[in-house]
Amino acid sequence: MTMNSTEVKSRTQSGSGTRKQRFPFLDLQAEFATMQEEVLAAVKSVLESQHFIMGPEVGKLEAAIAKHLGCSFAISCASGSDALLLAMMALGVDSGDEVITVPFTFVATAGSIARLKATPVFVDIEPETYNLDWKQLEAAITPRTKAIIPVHLFGLPAEMEKITGIARAHRIPVIEDAAQAIGARYRDQYVGNLGVGGCLSFFPSKNLGGAGDGGMVTSNDPEFADRLSVLRLHGGRRKYHYDLLGMNSRLDTLQAAILLVKLRYLHDWTKARQRNADRYRDLFAQADLNQWVTLPVQPEGFEHVYNQFVIRVQRRDELREYLRLAGIPSEIYYPLPLHLQAAFADLKYGVGAFPQAEAASQEVLALPVFPTMTEQQQQTVVGVIGDFFAGKN
Ligand SMILES: *Cc1c(COP(=O)(O)O)cnc(C)c1O
Repeated sequence: MTMNSTEVKSRTQSGSGTRKQRFPFLDLQAEFATMQEEVLAAVKSVLESQHFIMGPEVGKLEAAIAKHLGCSFAISCASGSDALLLAMMALGVDSGDEVITVPFTFVATAGSIARLKATPVFVDIEPETYNLDWKQLEAAITPRTKAIIPVHLFGLPAEMEKITGIARAHRIPVIEDAAQAIGARYRDQYVGNLGVGGCLSFFPSKNLGGAGDGGMVTSNDPEFADRLSVLRLHGGRRKYHYDLLGMNSRLDTLQAAILLVKLRYLHDWTKARQRNADRYRDLFAQADLNQWVTLPVQPEGFEHVYNQFVIRVQRRDELREYLRLAGIPSEIYYPLPLHLQAAFADLKYGVGAFPQAEAASQEVLALPVFPTMTEQQQQTVVGVIGDFFAGKN
């Protein structure tokens, strides 16, 4: 359903009274309401079994996700951050090594590198996709580069053919940070199949979110997958016999049981997010806002799953405040790039080191795009953004 621009204008001019209806940035309660009984039954069944650690639902979820994504292995763990950590441990990343990633991402991508006492080496992003700029990748590679971690930010795959091509020429493994992109496809392949390992997160706000923390590493490499499955269980194959120095990073049976239910809805929810993104495109075009607002790109052959719908504007902070006063939630991912964070001060990157990441952090604004969002709610969002630019420009 679309509207013409006069309809948008008339709503815009009809005053704030019609749009006092409040809605959250992400409506997880509405999602829960659609499957409450199934989730409660799954939780009850685990509670009755009292099999909380590595119960049968864990293996079932791993098999279901491997099937869903078309990969050979899926190894669950305690969080997306641990998925990154375990994937690097399985590759033997160690102190003194370098791992290349982007400065414009959630902290865990680079934090997990630093936690292994390896050095994060940043490569700037492309301004249109917010993903790793492959044209700058080769220059960052050194003899100490042990891995490359592109991020599929906001749900849009990175330019993996170029990235893995360069990596292969240098014999460097690629780990995908697919925490925001479960179900996204790059040239007809699901992300998680494009490197040696793909890291997923089940943090509640991700496209497949649990009732707490959870994560998974997907792979098509049997040796890598085997090391991972041992590393997350203290490094032991047999109880009290340890082959590797591992850690305690398991997915709770309760989480696996809940995620098994939610996985059945993932495809439909992804479609709903994509429909909402298309509706935003129509509404922004009809409101004639494309000169003020840069919309997310969807390059040919890249499928975006819209964990976030991120626009780019000048005077972002003013717009965000204007939206807030009109009762419209928005978020900033991310306000300060990682190379300028206090936690990474010892890397000694200064202002200006990654101009695209720095510019993006000043101009990006994430709008609500959750699956149960209504067309009317989206019209309200675009209407208020239209008011902002009409009133002040
Ligand atoms: C959420 C996220 C992670 C970490 O996942 P957690 O499950 O919260 O530990 C890693 N990378 C990116 C890009 C993320 O968005």
